[in-house]
Formats: sequence, C-alpha cells, structure tokens
Amino acid sequence: RKFINQYETLKELGKGSFGKVKLIKHTETGELFALKVFNKNVLRKKRMGTRNMLQDVEHEIRIMKQMDHPSCIKLYEVLDSPDYHKLFLRLEYCEGGHPICTENLPTDPLPEAAARKYFRGLLDGLDYIHSSNIIHRDIKPENLLLTKDGMIKLADFGTGQVLEDGNDLINKSAGTPAFTAPEACVEGDFSGKGADIWAAGVTLYLFVHGKCPFISNNLVQIFQMIREDPIEFSPTLSHNCRDLLEKILEKDPKKRIQIPDIKNHEWLKED
Ligand code: ADP
Ligand code: MG
Ligand code: MG
Repeated sequence: RKFINQYETLKELGKGSFGKVKLIKHTETGELFALKVFNKNVLRKKRMGTRNMLQDVEHEIRIMKQMDHPSCIKLYEVLDSPDYHKLFLRLEYCEGGHPICTENLPTDPLPEAAARKYFRGLLDGLDYIHSSNIIHRDIKPENLLLTKDGMIKLADFGTGQVLEDGNDLINKSAGTPAFTAPEACVEGDFSGKGADIWAAGVTLYLFVHGKCPFISNNLVQIFQMIREDPIEFSPTLSHNCRDLLEKILEKDPKKRIQIPDIKNHEWLKED
C-alpha cells in the first residue's frame, strides 16, 4: 500500500465515534479528497455489538470497494501511515454538508420540494446497495452528504453488512436509536433491507418536520415507542407526503412499502 505523505491536510470535516474526517489536497495535482482516519490500536480495543471496531472498518472497506454508483460516496484507496498505526480511507469529497442540520433538534423543516429531491437521491443509493445485497444499517441525515451541486450521496458504511446468499435478514441491528425499525427494537433483533427503508422514512419525516417521529433519551422507552406508539404528522403536510410516510413507517415489515412502489408513489412524481 501507499503512504499518506503525498497529501496535505487543509481542515477537519467531521468527527466520528472512531476519530476524524479531514479535507486533504494532493500536493502535486491540487485535487481535494476527504480522508477518514482510523487509529488501529484504539479500534481493536473498542467493541460495538459482535464485532470490534477494526472489524467494522474492514467491513466498511470491503463494502465500499464493491460499490460504484453516483448516489454512494466513492472510496479511492486505503493508505497507511509510515508507522502503520493508522489507516486512512481516501474518499470522494462532498463539500455541500448535510441535507438538514441535526445538531439542535427541533430545527426548521425543509420545503417538501427540497425534501423530495434529497429523498430521491437517498432512494437511488439504497436501491443500488440493496440490489447488490448490501444493507447500510445506519441511514440518517449525518450519513448523507451533498455535493456542491446538491446531489445526495450515501456515506459511512461502517455498519454495512453483506447479506449472504438467500439470507434477507441478519440477527443484529446497528445504528441510531431514533432511526431503528420496530422489528429491530427487540432482543434477537432482525435487521434487513426493510430496516433501511424504515430509517429512510424517519429521515424523510425529519426533513419535513424538523424532528424525529419518536424522541426519548431512554433506550428502552424509545424502542417501546417505536414498536407501539402511533406517529403524529404535521397538519401542514401535503396529502401525498403524509400517505408515503405512513406507508414507509408501517410497523409490520411485511406490510411496509418497498423501493419499487416508493419510486412509483405520487409524491415522488411531483416536481
Ligand atoms: P462515522 O462512522 O464516525 O459516523 P462518517 O463516515 O459518518 O463517520 O463521517 C463523519 C462525518 O465526517 C460525516 O457526518 C461528515 O460530516 C464528515 N464526512 C465524512 N465523509 C465525508 C466526505 N466524503 N466529504 C465531506 N465530509 C465528510
Ligand atoms: Mg456517520
Ligand atoms: Mg461509521
């Protein structure tokens, strides 16, 4: 593998649970990239669910290497620090930030036309990875990035999982409580493509309401709310937007709308 010396760091783009994402410039060509930095010794010691975080990064790399789609962040190469203690993912740089700021919720909702545009991009990305039998398991606005032209890209495949032949579900969910699907909120939880679709629905709900449908700092309580409580919608939503949200945020994964029918929904056909 190559080393990182040929790039210079310009600024920090984001902080994750693991470390940092930086903006870098190729010294010779001036090309800009995002660099996701991992400290291998730290990752080895951290455990989330069944795998340690270094194994998560190995999944992230394996999955991203397979992907090639305009709605998914591109991984260009994996680099080492000269002492081999750090691992770097050189990624396509998205300079447009996130579709909605979630640092201080509630926030101002997006107009439906903007939400629709972002949701279309999210759906294209999901459709592509699901067709490749990959599930993301942490769909939420922080993992959606915008190019300078306002196109959505799916990012952060650290929780990604390849579904093995004939298996539609895996028995471990991952991700963020407020975006967790009802079927993944229980012991021995099951996560699959449907859970990504639910999380995309929570993301759309957040776009048009400025907050998530279920809010609690208590994990047991929020999982119970997700499984049992009805969802409240803003009275100002259009009929079509509400109808689509109700079909995606269907608690029974067997009855939940799937991507082809979402794409054909009236709300997505509007301008
Ligand atoms: P984590 O796995 O820790 O959540 P992410 O891959 O989601 O890490 O990156 C953390 C943050 O860094 C993102 O939410 C985003 O703000 C920023 N970021 C990540 N990748 C890029 C990129 N390719 N271009 C611009 N910003 C990025
Ligand atoms: Mg992330
Ligand atoms: Mg991650």
